[in-house]
Amino acid sequence: MVVDQASLLIAIAFSSASLMLALLIGWLSDRQETYLVQGACGIGLVVVALLVMGLRHGAYDLLYQVIPFSVLLGGFTLIFSASRLFRRRDSGIGLPLAIGVACVVLTDVPLLMGYSGVGTLVLNATSALIMSLCAREFALGRQESRLAMLVNAGLYGLTAVSFAACAAVLLVDQRWVLTAPPDNWAEDINSIMSLVGLTGIGAITLTLHHARSALRHREEANTDPLTGALNRRALFERYPEGQSVSSLAVLMFDLDHFKQINDRLGHAKGDEVLQRFTDLLRQQLRPEDMIARLGGEEFGVILPGLDRDEARAVAERIRTAFADLAITINNAGGVATVSAGLATGGPGESFSSVLSRADAALYKAKRRGRNKVHLAPLKRVA
Ligand code: GH3
Ligand code: MG
Ligand code: MG
Repeated sequence: MVVDQASLLIAIAFSSASLMLALLIGWLSDRQETYLVQGACGIGLVVVALLVMGLRHGAYDLLYQVIPFSVLLGGFTLIFSASRLFRRRDSGIGLPLAIGVACVVLTDVPLLMGYSGVGTLVLNATSALIMSLCAREFALGRQESRLAMLVNAGLYGLTAVSFAACAAVLLVDQRWVLTAPPDNWAEDINSIMSLVGLTGIGAITLTLHHARSALRHREEANTDPLTGALNRRALFERYPEGQSVSSLAVLMFDLDHFKQINDRLGHAKGDEVLQRFTDLLRQQLRPEDMIARLGGEEFGVILPGLDRDEARAVAERIRTAFADLAITINNAGGVATVSAGLATGGPGESFSSVLSRADAALYKAKRRGRNKVHLAPLKRVA
């Protein structure tokens, strides 16, 4: 080996420390991404363990085993927990913690009994287990960004294999008691793999983090914060000017006498009614339909592939379902209702033209007494 084990361990510690800093900086600019801070803490523990191991000058007594091994496993456990959190925002730390405690106990018991070789073997085996669990998380989350997630999974997987090889060598050699840190081909490969793995995983994780924040910002820019529906901008992004939309129906909804709801029940109740109407739209529509809040109490619904009769049935269903919610708006028992205008795309017609015809039909539904669906006349020529 060109470089000795201790120097390699210290090199990995420094590389990990800079990765920890990078993750912390990422977290400072995006506090809701708690996996970054959990990963940074995990790497912090790994750095401490590696420094202790790198600076032990060949000493291999109980203290130089139990402390760095337990800290290392603690670090790996946090990295595993961060990987789970990265894939699923609602993952708790309970399962990783239970696995981590079990790994530390399994490693420390033989060490305390004087079987330093067995403890070292178990350390490598449990590290391999935790690394493969990290690999599994990234493999399972691959739909987010196939290549990056699979490369991360591969790097964790190879690191796991290199730990398993260290355990296997000790097992084959039957080294149940060690007086010095193990020094064999598997240890060399493991050190190199850890260095490569850490750098690669760190860089890829940060790239994934940036891609994820960019996507979130784009979604926020396209979403109405009160109802979670799309906004006008998102609708026009989906259907840009100049694109013809002949096989699509557009419904425009406007809540009736909404001002009265605000005046009589308060603005907060008005907000709640807007949310309940959006929930109702979601229940009544197909996943491929689009729901957008276009103004205060005005909503646009896009129904791809539906003809006039089908779209009219959908609009009627929504209109009656909303009245059935029986939201009382005045002392005389008046109920909140909604009016709708419907237009279907004519040959070569642009989206904004269909939308304005649906808007004109909505105006007619209001004029005819509200709580009605009005159909725009068919547009026959381009
Ligand atoms: P019409 O039946 O003719 O549609 O009557 P309307 O009262 O619904 O229509 P109008 O346009 O007069 O009133 C719309 C009201 O919607 C006025 C505005 O204060 C209210 N509004 C707009 N945005 C919001 C919102 O985000 N929350 C609440 N609570 N009210 C809003
Ligand atoms: Mg209204
Ligand atoms: Mg209105």
